[in-house]
Amino acid sequence: MPIDSYRHKGLRKRMVEELMAKGITDERVLEAMNTVPRHFFLDSSFADIAYEDRALQILCLQTISHPFTVAFQTQLLKLQPRMKVLEIGTGSGYQTAVLHQFNIILYTIERQRDLFLSAQEMFKTLNIRPKCFYGDGYKGLPGFAPFDRILVTCGAKSLPIELFNQLKIGGIMVIPVGDKVQQMLRIEKTSETEYKQESFGEFSFVPMLKEKAR
Ligand code: SAH
Repeated sequence: MPIDSYRHKGLRKRMVEELMAKGITDERVLEAMNTVPRHFFLDSSFADIAYEDRALQILCLQTISHPFTVAFQTQLLKLQPRMKVLEIGTGSGYQTAVLHQFNIILYTIERQRDLFLSAQEMFKTLNIRPKCFYGDGYKGLPGFAPFDRILVTCGAKSLPIELFNQLKIGGIMVIPVGDKVQQMLRIEKTSETEYKQESFGEFSFVPMLKEKAR
């Protein structure tokens, strides 16, 4: 188990102050960001820079999102206890661990096997048990739908219809949509076929890709 030293705790506190300065206001989000040790989800060579607001490389040429992006997406979700939540793109598992702080029923899908396996190891170490799946997030988890919330942590070219179908009416999906850069969208499903959409500015994500990687 990696060590969460006083120095790391101090750096994390400073990260949270930076998140507040950048506009994160939800106390529960700030608290979750202050609780989860981001450096556990990164190669140990990144331990000193783990709490800077930057994306860093993880396995399979993917990236852990900026702390601001993780906090911002989490804030947009408006989570309530016991909600059923689906995350697409487990990656390092950092965002998953942040969501886990909200006392929700959490499902997460990753298409890269090595990331799926290493995130699961870290969840065991932290003694948390999100339901992890190795598969194609475009397909969602029809057997567990409908979800109150869906969070996509990779850039989609358009709104994936399967995921929309697996959202409850009144449910919310937070998803970055676009090709080279993405608009952060919050979709609220108002009927089986309709939704309200809000846009929250430009972000840059690794692409959401079809099918499981081999
Ligand atoms: N939330 C992650 C971010 C990782 S980057 C973290 O905190 O570390 C986005 C992840 O989405 C990558 O790991 C990538 O492999 C994954 N991904 C891309 N397309 C996917 C798909 N169709 N289904 C599931 N995961 C996908």
